[in-house]
Amino acid sequence: MNQSASRTPDSELSQFRVTGEIPVPALINGLTAAAVPLLLFYAWRSTQQADPFTAPWLFSFAVLLAINAVIFVFSGQKTLQRRVFIVLITALFTFLAIQAVEDGSAIIWLFAYPPIIFYISEARIGIIACLGGWLAVLLLFSPLGDALFELPYSGTLRLTMIIVLAFEMVTCYILDQSRRRSKLGLIKLAKEFEYAAKHDALTGLANRREGLEQLDAEYQRYLRNGRHYSVLLMDIDLFKQVNDTFGHQVGDDMIVLVGKTLTEQCRKVDTIARWGGEEFLILLPETSSEDAQASAERIRLAVAARTVQADGMDIGATISIGVATIQGSESIDRLLQRADEALYQAKSEGRNRTCRAAGS
Ligand code: GH3
Ligand code: MG
Ligand code: MG
Repeated sequence: MNQSASRTPDSELSQFRVTGEIPVPALINGLTAAAVPLLLFYAWRSTQQADPFTAPWLFSFAVLLAINAVIFVFSGQKTLQRRVFIVLITALFTFLAIQAVEDGSAIIWLFAYPPIIFYISEARIGIIACLGGWLAVLLLFSPLGDALFELPYSGTLRLTMIIVLAFEMVTCYILDQSRRRSKLGLIKLAKEFEYAAKHDALTGLANRREGLEQLDAEYQRYLRNGRHYSVLLMDIDLFKQVNDTFGHQVGDDMIVLVGKTLTEQCRKVDTIARWGGEEFLILLPETSSEDAQASAERIRLAVAARTVQADGMDIGATISIGVATIQGSESIDRLLQRADEALYQAKSEGRNRTCRAAGS
């Protein structure tokens, strides 16, 4: 389960949202709403501390973050919002470290960077940003950093900062991977549930519920464009005898074989549903009564030509088919009723035959 899940690309993963998960744009907006007043507060503090250089920078970051949020509200462009946000916070954290804002204590804000970056971007971007950020801090704390900037950081702070930052980044990476895997697992499970809800376990064909859904969808199309569609309702002849003589397993094999034959004989646009035990329904979109009848005959002959193996013998089966084509403003129930009547007629006329419903 995990193997195929891990093959899902990261970008595809971001298209799905698991219940309870905070959407990335909402998180960015929330972070922006928190960051703007904080930046304005620190900008004001820096003016109080006779640090005129820092205030305009912090003020500019606040304005740019706010503009990014406003643009997103009007344009709805998630990717642009995320990219600009990443660039802005990367620049902001770099500024806080280089400028040694708040007597150098603002560098502690760097610890907010890894969890944010891993949450809002793909894993690859998160790794690159964190690795790049960590190397940049290493460079800043090297003699080169001291030569370029006047840094107040003590030796112990530098050492602790580098080690703890690496520790935090690795931890964030592990947690993020586990979050992504759990999400993939949930998505896969949801897909499996969706498949199981729509398909028959024995044959893999659509189940009755899905067949009814497709009938309804086709009916809506018919009401819009007036193009007639047909249904074939079919039933394996004297199937009980197969079960009684050769056992339930051979009966199952026969149901599977009929299902496979129907799939081979139908078009991609047709819906083949297992309607009941040994009953099948085929929905033929945009198909006239004559064409439906011809298809039914082709299918009937194809089924009659196939066999399953039991006790070293080839066991064949035949089917009876009722054909009905939608007419006027009749309901789906009425259409199915006419198909059922036609099937009943085929049975009573001796089985292994196709009958067209009255009026079709
Ligand atoms: P007819 O030609 O009139 O349709 O005769 P029939 O014997 O096919 O009709 P009947 O309805 O009497 O028998 C259907 C049988 O199909 C009874 C039921 O036990 C069997 N059946 C239903 N579902 C399954 C299944 O999933 N597997 C197997 N092996 N048998 C099934
Ligand atoms: Mg039967
Ligand atoms: Mg039956």
